[in-house]
Amino acid sequence: MGKLKGLFLDTATQIARHWHAPSEREEIRGQLEGCKLYCSRYVKCQYKATILNSLIALYNFLLRYKDMNRALQESKRFSNRGVAGLTLTKSVQERIIDIGLWIATQYTNYSEQIRRLETFIEDSWETFFNSGLQLPLVDETSCLYANDAPKRGESGLFEPIKASCTKENPLECKIEAFWNNHRVGLESLANMKIDSIKAEPKETKELERIKEDSSKIIQGESSRGRRCTVYLSDAIICIEAGHCPEPSAVHSTNKKHFCPLGEVLGVECAC
Ligand SMILES: [Zn+2]
Repeated sequence: MGKLKGLFLDTATQIARHWHAPSEREEIRGQLEGCKLYCSRYVKCQYKATILNSLIALYNFLLRYKDMNRALQESKRFSNRGVAGLTLTKSVQERIIDIGLWIATQYTNYSEQIRRLETFIEDSWETFFNSGLQLPLVDETSCLYANDAPKRGESGLFEPIKASCTKENPLECKIEAFWNNHRVGLESLANMKIDSIKAEPKETKELERIKEDSSKIIQGESSRGRRCTVYLSDAIICIEAGHCPEPSAVHSTNKKHFCPLGEVLGVECAC
């Protein structure tokens, strides 16, 4: 990949550059070196929903079992949702393992490990997110899902951050206005000819879902909820990347989602 002036970091890249296994972290950081890095408040919400909830789940497992190896073993069981305090999705489980192993290489005893995790949950996650970025963050959507601060329950366990976007919560979400402002993009998504997209690899099913949701928004259905936080999120990020102070390409480790969308939306992706 050639060196670009500006890169807009997707959630997957933001997570990978700090929280993946060391070899992956190095690889991503090498790709970002020498570039001006941009990101958005919307990406921060996504990042927070994944990273903060992974940290919270790991903290809760460690607090329960007082031993990192045991905590990591237990986190592999989907049925241990009660201990984690949240649904153990594959992406949360992977982050728990990477972060747990990383902490274990730096801190050998339980009390240091749990204290480090506490610091991550209370503020370091945000320091990591912002590191190296041009601020202020781009903000085209004004969505604030996953906006709550981490809270501890009576048992000492942390409660998960709620990651919803509904009509009432968050009130601030202006995703409807976003799609009105970016009508051309929305129409490109609704009318895309999936078979003609050249980018490879592409996930046809994902693209069909995006096409369908975009059409429904055009027909007047709500763009909030999971259409805001999940189904159209990669498309939203591509469009936001067009609002950096200088022309910037999207950088994502999730190439199969971003490259086809970038082609449809006319947004450069660092694939
Ligand atoms: Zn929203």
